Order: sequence, then C-alpha cells, then structure tokens
Amino acid sequence: MKSVRIAFYLFALILVFSSVPSLAQDDDGKLRIIVFGAHPDDPEKVGGTMAKFVEQGHKVRLISMTNGNAGHQEMGGGPLAWRRYKETQCAGAAIGAEYIVMDNDDGKLMPTLENREKVIAQIREWKADVVISPRPNDYHPDHRNTGLLVRDAAYMVTVPNIVASVPHLRKNPIFIYMSDRFTQPSPFDPDIVVAIDEMLEKKIDMYHCHTSQMYEWLPYNANILDQVPESDADRREWMASRRMRRSNAERYTELLTELYGEEKAKSIQHVEAFEVSEYGSQPSLEELKKLFPFFN
Ligand SMILES: [Zn+2]
Repeated sequence: MKSVRIAFYLFALILVFSSVPSLAQDDDGKLRIIVFGAHPDDPEKVGGTMAKFVEQGHKVRLISMTNGNAGHQEMGGGPLAWRRYKETQCAGAAIGAEYIVMDNDDGKLMPTLENREKVIAQIREWKADVVISPRPNDYHPDHRNTGLLVRDAAYMVTVPNIVASVPHLRKNPIFIYMSDRFTQPSPFDPDIVVAIDEMLEKKIDMYHCHTSQMYEWLPYNANILDQVPESDADRREWMASRRMRRSNAERYTELLTELYGEEKAKSIQHVEAFEVSEYGSQPSLEELKKLFPFFN
C-alpha cells in the first residue's frame, strides 16, 4: 500500500513540475500554439517543432491567411483554392495539427482592420500561449502583411473592447517570429533554436502533401519543371534533397551549444529557429524553455 501511495505522490509531483500553469492560458498543463503563414504551405516552415509539440500532447493550430488561389501556372480561382485546402488538411494530419485556411485572395493580402480583427479572433479562440508568424520584412507582400497583421494583433488580444464578441485573453501570449534571411531593416536574431532531426521525415511529409506547389508551381516558377521525377517516392526524395536534406544547424552553433550542451549540439543537423517579438510577453530564457519544452 505504502509503495502505491509513494508512486501516486511521485506521479503528482511529476505532473506539477511538468506543467506550465503560470505561463499557459489553460491550466491543464498543455500549451496552445498558433502559427500564421500567408499561404497554404507556409506554416510548414516550423512543422518540425510543431510535430514535437503535438507529440508531447500540446495543441497546435496552423493558419494560412490566404487561400492560395494564385499559386499555379495553369489552375486558378476556386478550383485551385479547393485543391490547396485539401493539401493543407493532408499536411495538418501528417503531424496531428489543425489547419485553417482563410478565404483571402492569394497575392492580395492587405493589413486591413478587418483582417487584423480576424487574426485577433483566431488567437483568442485558440487561447494561444505562443503565436508564431513571419517577420514583417520579406520579399513577398503576403508574407510581409501576415507579419504586420499578427504584430498588430499583439497586445490587442488583451483589450476587451476590441473584437468584443470573442472573449479577450487575460495574458498576452508570446509572439514569435520564424527565421528568415532578410537583413533590412534588421537581420533575424534568434532567441531559441529547436533541433528537429527526429521530425525531419514528418516535415517532409507535410511538404509532400502540397503537390500543386512542390511538383508543379514552384518548379515551374524556378524553370525546373522538367526535372520533377515521375513516381511519388522519387519526387518526394527529389523535393526533400532540394529543400530539407542539407544541414542548417551551423548557422546557430553558439545558441545550440548554450541550449543543448556542446556534445549534443555537435550532432544536430536540422533546426528551426525563433525570435521573440518585442510586442508580446517577454519571457526569460527559463520561461522560453518551458514554452518550448524540448531541452532537458
Ligand atoms: Zn508563401
């Protein structure tokens, strides 16, 4: 009997220390993450980390701000939007995340008040602890405007009289940027880097769902459509070798060493990096490690 009781107390203790009640909106110990991208296939950029969240029982919602109806050389409009919607559902299912597509036209996303309010409503409805988006500086206007819209929703999600129909959040979430290579007006400055080697195949699975992009539009746009292999397995490997197979860890050696220790850091090949926005909650490194619970 005594050993049962000890086991119970140990279990309770583990529950208490493994949860993140002071940081999370919900008190069930599970984090709620929402990722905004401009197009169906953009939230995939952080798919490895999202797969890790889901694996631990946390809740992930991916959102495309546009319906992708301009992303093809032959198709367009409703049929393309519908095709790409189905591709998002495949990608979400690959890691066990929800995937929502907003019905804004591709290539025409504007940082309007109406769109800002949609973003605010999404963040609130999801009761997000962590909100991820591109930075507002990027080559593509839809990416840029997605960054602006999410940035302008930060703080506003806590104001009751804004979008009064959706209950406001009592805690401002942390707002996080995905990595990029743009340097104007300032380069990406990572605060946390997550090793995703064990999730790499799942991330490739997500991209592989986007047939209209990976094997049609993007190769067409890059003038390499004739290089796309025929069979499903061959084209998956071709796409993966072009996009994913090369290590990207060396860009973050210092931070990886700090987070994982020197020995482990040396073995890491594939990572996803994140920068904390100045406009949401400002976590300490220890809090950040609780919100990205992948570092022992
Ligand atoms: Zn995009």
